[in-house]
Amino acid sequence: MTQETGGFAALDLHPSIVAAVLATGYEEPSAIQQQSIPIILAGHDMIGQAQTGTGKTAAFALPILNRIDPSKREPQALILAPTRELALQVATAFETYAKQMPGVTVVAVYGGAPMGPQLKAIRNGAQIVVATPGRLCDHLRRDEKVLATVNHLVLDEADEMLKLGFMDDLEVIFKAMPETRQTVLFSATLPASIRAIAERHLRDPKHVKIQSKTQTVTAIEQAHLMVHADQKVSAVLRLLEVEEFDALIAFVRTKQATLDLASALEAKGYKAAALNGDIAQNQRERVIDSLKDGRLDIVVATDVAARGLDVPRITHVFNVDMPYDPESYVHRIGRTGRAGREGRALLLVTPRERRMLQVIERVTGQKVAEVRLPNGQAVLDARIKKLTNSLAPLVADAEASHGDLLDRLTADIGCSPRALAAALLRKATNGQALTLEAVEKEQPLVPSSAPRERTAGGERSERGERERRAPMPLGEGRARCRTALGARDGIAAKNLLGAILNEGGLAREAIGRIQVRDSFSLVELPEDGLDRLLTKLKDTRVAGKQLKLRRYRED
Ligand code: ADP
Ligand code: MG
Repeated sequence: MTQETGGFAALDLHPSIVAAVLATGYEEPSAIQQQSIPIILAGHDMIGQAQTGTGKTAAFALPILNRIDPSKREPQALILAPTRELALQVATAFETYAKQMPGVTVVAVYGGAPMGPQLKAIRNGAQIVVATPGRLCDHLRRDEKVLATVNHLVLDEADEMLKLGFMDDLEVIFKAMPETRQTVLFSATLPASIRAIAERHLRDPKHVKIQSKTQTVTAIEQAHLMVHADQKVSAVLRLLEVEEFDALIAFVRTKQATLDLASALEAKGYKAAALNGDIAQNQRERVIDSLKDGRLDIVVATDVAARGLDVPRITHVFNVDMPYDPESYVHRIGRTGRAGREGRALLLVTPRERRMLQVIERVTGQKVAEVRLPNGQAVLDARIKKLTNSLAPLVADAEASHGDLLDRLTADIGCSPRALAAALLRKATNGQALTLEAVEKEQPLVPSSAPRERTAGGERSERGERERRAPMPLGEGRARCRTALGARDGIAAKNLLGAILNEGGLAREAIGRIQVRDSFSLVELPEDGLDRLLTKLKDTRVAGKQLKLRRYRED
């Protein structure tokens, strides 16, 4: 973060909430958190505008947790999210942040799952209800009193909810809640439809906008590359092979990530160390001194820990995790290119973060060119170049000092000088892969041309991601359909799911796997009635573009 703050502890949150947040590995509130938390804590209505990935969930979850009364076993806060996936993510986040608040329970309410258990959880006293608007309305139709005790309402991703056609449902929900409630609305964009809702249903709302001021970036060469979240470490390892760096700083979001990446680098023989907020001041200074004098070449840091770090040797900045805002991007890459030297900054972007990349480009007024992950040949060439550079200076006087010995050894062994030189090379390179085949075997990496959705929220979703990548046979009675919309159109699986559920009138279970690729997407739909469904979806638009879903035949 760019502004100086006192961290989460200075925000007037209950100590058990602060403790849970710090245990999650967050060091400092993001800008939207910093600004929203005091407003929501004070009970105001609020409109928050910020891009994806800026930390909006904690921006409302932490103060809402602070405002509920755990001893009262009745629903007190309602969070509305556009899709089942997002509702589940938000519910999981609440559970994480409420870990040290005994008695707080969270229920997720969404379509495609039986209603009975959801209603039971609400009646059993869950204080936090996270719901999709459609399913919540189904509950309201059965029991119009379910929301009678809810005095905090959050609309998360309000623009997405309207895009998915939830306007009418929202009106029903507003009516079913006490008028004295606190209402908070988060949205990436504020079109007229959202402003109209705010006008009618929010009382004197405070506005928080994470504004992107224009920043100038000087002699730093910038590039980005698309990767999947779970490929970041292997991508970094590859990049390090080909980038000619002196010292390098790699930025990640959490303490745990600093430790994980630093140890992965050490395991590969790099002189690397982690720098995070847990590291004592004197140790921190030792790390920085080591980076200055070359005992270390790579430091893996969080934003907070790297604040003020000024090491002229730094030639490279790797943004392994996306910064929260363009200002911290500019701040981070300013660690290189010091004192008029040249610097290079690389940014790893997961599909979900494309929009942040665009914001960064707009704010810095510069295009951040896309580069590809180096292939095996590039890695091999880089290794051979390094070997050449290290051997070349040794050749000059070696013949004079060791030429006779070479003659004697080749005669004694009965081999050619070429054979002996090759043996010495093998010894000197210590088993390093130095053929194309060996390099490719050593660094298996899925090509980055087929990015998948990265879901927010830690390990659980990372694991989900890996599982989803495993080749899966087409479910029985299902047909695969294709649309030309993909990640590069700003499409995520949740958009497709939302659109098909809404416009197709299908149950969630009817829809199988959704795979979002760069330039197209695949969706598994029921074979039964497929043609009718496709006709129904004929004019459906997603993210402003025509879906044009067609049957897809693989051969
Ligand atoms: P948004 O809703 O704005 O898209 P999320 O709330 O989903 O963003 O947060 C994006 C990611 O950032 C999540 O993985 C979350 O755990 C992480 N995150 C949020 N706040 C912080 C923080 N203060 N420090 C470190 N990581 C954070
Ligand atoms: Mg969010």
